[in-house]
Amino acid sequence: MAIKRSSGNQKSASTNKKTKKTKSKSNQGKKQLEKTLKNDSSSESRLVSATSNTEETENQEAGIRPQTLTDYIGQKELKKILNIAIAAAKDRQESLDHLLLYGPPGLGKTTMSLILASEMGVNCKITAAPALERPRDITGLLIGLKPGDILFIDEIHRLNRMTEELLYPAMEDYRLDITIGKGQSAKTRSIPLPKFTLIGATTKVGSLTSPLRDRFGLIQRLRFYEIDELTTIVKRTAEIFKTTITEEGAAEIARRSRGTPRIANRLLRRVRDYAQVEKADAIDLELAAIALEVFDVDPRGLDWTDRLVLTTMIEQFQGGPVGLEAIAAATGEDSKTIEEVYEPYLLQIGYLNRTHRGRIATEAAYQHLGYQKTLF
Ligand code: ADP
Repeated sequence: MAIKRSSGNQKSASTNKKTKKTKSKSNQGKKQLEKTLKNDSSSESRLVSATSNTEETENQEAGIRPQTLTDYIGQKELKKILNIAIAAAKDRQESLDHLLLYGPPGLGKTTMSLILASEMGVNCKITAAPALERPRDITGLLIGLKPGDILFIDEIHRLNRMTEELLYPAMEDYRLDITIGKGQSAKTRSIPLPKFTLIGATTKVGSLTSPLRDRFGLIQRLRFYEIDELTTIVKRTAEIFKTTITEEGAAEIARRSRGTPRIANRLLRRVRDYAQVEKADAIDLELAAIALEVFDVDPRGLDWTDRLVLTTMIEQFQGGPVGLEAIAAATGEDSKTIEEVYEPYLLQIGYLNRTHRGRIATEAAYQHLGYQKTLF
């Protein structure tokens, strides 16, 4: 099978980087503007990464996080189930069942926990498994809880064994078992805890031990957002930012956001910067598209490395099947990074397939990048 580049408007990753053009009204100072904007975002490891970056401090995120279930866009099934759980718990005047939320980063797990706390009229303490290194980290948090409070543990699949074992009786019997002393003279003391709700969040539900998973009364998955849902999120955030945006402008940002609200909000921030520097009155479709082109986020939300992975597979390996290590060697990227950071989205949008013989670039990937598959 041979490959021929069609005249499609997508460029390969390497050419794209060198020949990227923007259609700004005034070309004067364009290069400088692009440089400034890109430098502004250099603190972000990757613009289309779904994990939060240094720019998105908790304070900044707090300003745009929806506060109520009504403001929480999408995830209809999840909201329906949680609405029932809230009503039932309130009716019985009890705390909510322990809840496990799983799904890729940036989809609204933390946001949902904060909303649940406010709906229940309780406090929400937020922590993450890597911060619970020593037994006293988790005991300190548990002892400080008030009746009904929510304890949110992010990346819960990363808990160490000791911390996890302290959580079992805490979750099941609202009891903290601590061991005092060492060796033969060690004694266990039980401290009663108030009834609280543990909300665990994870991107890897399969990595949770079954004793921990079994202690959650509700296990719910968050799914990627549809374009219309992300468009609504972008419009809502623009309103908070007091930025004028058209429906089409918001939809353009939504299309490039990889189904993820965190990315949508981040892209909006960058487009807003661009609009400001360009002195544009509103973000419309053309401006959003040009700005995101400047930041190298293509119409499907792929960045330079995503495209490099695909073009390498197509140009050097005839589209596959090709092993992960071979892709890593040819692209100069680390194989784990390719597997964990780049592949999931390419798999999700059907640009890449995993088979037992290796990875394959799909027809859709060929089309997107402007390649044609031709047979000898
Ligand atoms: P996670 O905990 O899953 O990584 P977060 O809850 O921190 O994700 O969400 C990331 C950002 O995306 C939040 O700051 C919030 O503004 C936005 N967001 C997430 N879900 C929604 C939603 N359903 N509606 C509106 N905005 C959302």
